Amino acid sequence: MDANDSTAKLDFVRAIVAEDLKTNKWQGRVNTRFPPEPNGYLHIGHAKSICLNFGIAKEFGGKCNLRFDDTNPEKEEQEYVNSISEDVRWLGWDWEDRLFFASDYFEQMYQWAVELVKKGKAYVCDLSAEEVTNYRGTLTSPGKNSPYRSRGIEENLDLFTRMCAGEFPDGTKTLRAKIDMAHPNLNMRDPVMYRILHASHHRTGDKWCIYPTYDWAHGLEDSVEKITHSICTLEFENHRPLYDWYLDALGIYHPQQIEFARLNLTYTVMSKRKLLQLVQHGLVTGWDDPRMPTICGLRRRGYSPEAIRSFCQLIGVNKFNSTIDIALLEHCLREDLNKTSPRVMAVLRPLKVIIDNFPQGKVEEMDAVNNPEDPAAGMRKVPFSRELYIEQEDFMEEPPKKFYRLAPGREVRLRYAYFITCTDVVKDKAGNVVELHCTYDPATRGGDAPDGRKVKSTLHWVSVEHSLGAEVRLYDHLFTTKNPDEVEENKDFTSNLNPNSLKVLRDCRVEPALVGAKPLSRFQFERLGYFCIAPDSSTRKLVFNRTVTLRDEWAKIQKAQK
Ligand code: ATP
Ligand code: MG
Repeated sequence: MDANDSTAKLDFVRAIVAEDLKTNKWQGRVNTRFPPEPNGYLHIGHAKSICLNFGIAKEFGGKCNLRFDDTNPEKEEQEYVNSISEDVRWLGWDWEDRLFFASDYFEQMYQWAVELVKKGKAYVCDLSAEEVTNYRGTLTSPGKNSPYRSRGIEENLDLFTRMCAGEFPDGTKTLRAKIDMAHPNLNMRDPVMYRILHASHHRTGDKWCIYPTYDWAHGLEDSVEKITHSICTLEFENHRPLYDWYLDALGIYHPQQIEFARLNLTYTVMSKRKLLQLVQHGLVTGWDDPRMPTICGLRRRGYSPEAIRSFCQLIGVNKFNSTIDIALLEHCLREDLNKTSPRVMAVLRPLKVIIDNFPQGKVEEMDAVNNPEDPAAGMRKVPFSRELYIEQEDFMEEPPKKFYRLAPGREVRLRYAYFITCTDVVKDKAGNVVELHCTYDPATRGGDAPDGRKVKSTLHWVSVEHSLGAEVRLYDHLFTTKNPDEVEENKDFTSNLNPNSLKVLRDCRVEPALVGAKPLSRFQFERLGYFCIAPDSSTRKLVFNRTVTLRDEWAKIQKAQK
């Protein structure tokens, strides 16, 4: 797979759009839409749908609408409308003046329902929800006609008007399409179009006490907006005959529904219900917890919109449900961050090093490359002094065979600075190494020995006096198992939560160049990974989130496959 392969074959959705343009099926128009229900935050699965819909519009010179599918007053809120809009925009897409709400079409939908009643294609039914289910039949047995199915048109009109006027309590009546109770597709067995719900809607207030069902509303919304390609996920495939039936029964503009496979990711749950559960039970700090697969969580973690878009492009679309390895998402992230993130040095678990032959009080400014992948990023100065910090794990008193970093008597390179040799180890009473003494070779400034002698490792470091204190939050996968939805009996998915998904290090040191860096700006800490400034970071207390480590698991997986 190569995201930059311009000769790549069109995916099946794009192939349909291209063919329709060729045959002029929609008079040269392409108009898609992204139709979220404002009942939760967007996640990486939605990003797939967003990139598909907005991407197709962009590539084919068409338009993509943002439409809130706000037909269910009970779970929807303005908070979600705001966050969804923000996330779509952050991902890099623009709906221009095409922001729509399904609730704006309630009156039109009602008129269309009246029309179906008048045509004898819809009726008011007094069965309870439970009875409706019992009458529906099963996959192998036909359903039974409702005793109210034969109501006359006048009676239906009267009852439907009174339903709408608020005369009946919740759940006592529904409006149903009159299709076929023996239809092999259960969705076609007189589906409910309206239910009574005396609930306030976040946009229409108390104007309505009947609300349309998804199946009745969705095609009408597409029709009103003159959508050409109504792209949705596979579970709606067997709703398509109903989508088509409603539009044909009304004889109104009729888009084409196309289904694709939803995104599933390893080590992740994607269901809104489960994500909400994590938030409500305090198992994460909120929708934007950096471990969440939500767009706002990924943003806080340090993901770039470019990385998410390139992931969506790389996975493509198809008709078969499958699970993508999260290593691929992280691979796309690294590819982007590698190109764009300035390098800095940071020490997460500091060990003090004293360079005995370096003069007290002297400071040298070492030249450091900001980004080897981007010459335009330039250079910076890093102060070097007699007392430094290196990473605790870069020293071992009794190194095993393959440990090439610092050890007693051994010489290593300090990045952008000098070769140093460890001469002495200071320990506390408990025997822990607390300080190292070293000497440096002044002839190796910049990191090379004029006599050609080699060292086996290069360590990052910061100056004790010049470095800044920082807190660093090390994030890992939220779940320990590839498929967190797979659980033992009597357990739920939360039993698969990773107890080590967050580790906080409070005594880190970072180089002074990071002073004043803005929230969410991204860096590579040399040798450690990609980090971004946490939104709650301040000049008094610098805080970083680890976005991702440097080790590319995906590259490893690919190598193993070859
Ligand atoms: P709900 O169960 O609440 O309907 P949903 O995840 O389908 O949840 P919507 O707000 O209806 O949420 O989704 C908006 C759009 O995003 C839909 O067109 C849906 O098909 C698409 N979508 C949702 N989840 C995924 C996913 N995992 N992969 C691809 N597309 C998705
Ligand atoms: Mg949905």
